[in-house]
Amino acid sequence: MSKIIYVDLDRFKISEEAFVFKNLSSVGRGLAVQLIGALTVPKTGRGRGNCLVLAPGLLSGTKVPSTGRLVIAGLKVRERGLHLANTAGPFAQKLASQGVSALVVTGSYSPGRTAVIHIREEGVDLHIFPVLKDKPVGETISFLREKWGKDSAIVGVGPAGEHLLPLAGIFSTYPARGIPVFSVSRDKGGEVFGSLGLKAVVISTKPHFSADVQDPDRLSIYSKQLSRLIVQHPVCGGALPAYGSITLMKMLQEYNPEEAFQSKAQREKTGVNIDGVTVKEREEKKEQRVNRAKKTIRLNRNCASGCVVGCLNRHAANTGEVLSSPMENEVIAACREMFGINDLHFARRITRRCFEFGLDPIEFIASCKMLFQAEGTPWQLSAIEHMAEEVERLSLRGRALGSMTAGLAALFADDPALQPLVTRPSEKEAPAFVIRLPYREEGLEDISDLDYLSAYTIASTNLGLCLFTSFALLESPQGLQILSNLIEAKTGEKISAREIIREGLQCNWI
Ligand code: SF4
Repeated sequence: MSKIIYVDLDRFKISEEAFVFKNLSSVGRGLAVQLIGALTVPKTGRGRGNCLVLAPGLLSGTKVPSTGRLVIAGLKVRERGLHLANTAGPFAQKLASQGVSALVVTGSYSPGRTAVIHIREEGVDLHIFPVLKDKPVGETISFLREKWGKDSAIVGVGPAGEHLLPLAGIFSTYPARGIPVFSVSRDKGGEVFGSLGLKAVVISTKPHFSADVQDPDRLSIYSKQLSRLIVQHPVCGGALPAYGSITLMKMLQEYNPEEAFQSKAQREKTGVNIDGVTVKEREEKKEQRVNRAKKTIRLNRNCASGCVVGCLNRHAANTGEVLSSPMENEVIAACREMFGINDLHFARRITRRCFEFGLDPIEFIASCKMLFQAEGTPWQLSAIEHMAEEVERLSLRGRALGSMTAGLAALFADDPALQPLVTRPSEKEAPAFVIRLPYREEGLEDISDLDYLSAYTIASTNLGLCLFTSFALLESPQGLQILSNLIEAKTGEKISAREIIREGLQCNWI
């Protein structure tokens, strides 16, 4: 029997109700959106309170490959609308294995409250840890794992989220005892945690694959079919596992040593030596190599166990470099595009710094560019690092930067030259994309390729599937049929391949 758990942070009350599967729109992302709609009136998440929902996909917590994604949703704090984050890590598998279809947290803003929700075999507890106030992400994870076990999976926020910066992301831990330890989602949403006075949610249970399944034998057969489909695809089973998402970077990169070169004075100022690596980074790398040889830590190649792609850090074994990919790859690309910087070590440093404060590094880089242009200041690597410092100090400039490019553009409304620099969510850019799908289900000829793709994206998020598997699923005539068979094996309900897309289309309103 599946359930929804409710945590009321204002009344310190925890309750639960049974959850019954109805259709594909009632799980994962669909369930999160419905719960927020039911528990809030259309408004911002400020004032009378916010609502946060953590929902694993329908197939998370089963042996179906690459289904460990978690949807985290909540009301935006300053404007109407929702944050919808799709995060990695074993959290969703553990939550689904406890029979939880959604965890719902409600409450109102409470300055400095650092609540932590702990989910364990015996139930759910609520704690307040004043010591975690303004703690960076790495220290927060160490503190909580020290308390409840090294295998605990955690989602939460750094100081940026606590202070309601729109630039704040949500961190999620990768598999325990591995490096990198965590990642911060690009989907923002950290301010939702802050608006509730919630620092983190921890699940310390062991099982990853114990979710209820109606027909385990059939689920196993179709899971193997899906695995084969994914690993036989040239991108999902070839380029991504062979080289990781850094492949894309290597294809795009046109290295220019002159642009990457920093003056000796600059390097000395930032503590960077001739190879562009700080002494601290060099020592960390050495320690990691020793610990990996001793097998006390391992390299995380997957966000969560059961992913048959495994696109993280594929390049790390040969070079000894460990990236928090795919984010660092994206940061390298952003630095090159916006500032002409081709400096891997700088990109790594700024990513890690942003991660520790709980920021989205890409949007941080974009905001720096806009602020430099607005102020007419020339950019330099040291100026970007200085801006990171301003955000960490929560100075006026730092807060302005933390309001993202949209907030900065509003501050400089009299400068129309800044408007083109405002970052836009990808769905707003979607109509300009050229999309040609090689295959579509019969009876769906009336749907445009773009709508088909968006509907599939939503359906796969409802199922907990990683979007990197989409290449294989959408390019095969068998892909959606296998998903249909898996849904039936999991729930006992028949949802045809065509209905998967039709239901996704219905959810495409948010
Ligand atoms: S494909 Fe990559 S990003 Fe997706 S779940 Fe697997 S390891 Fe994570």
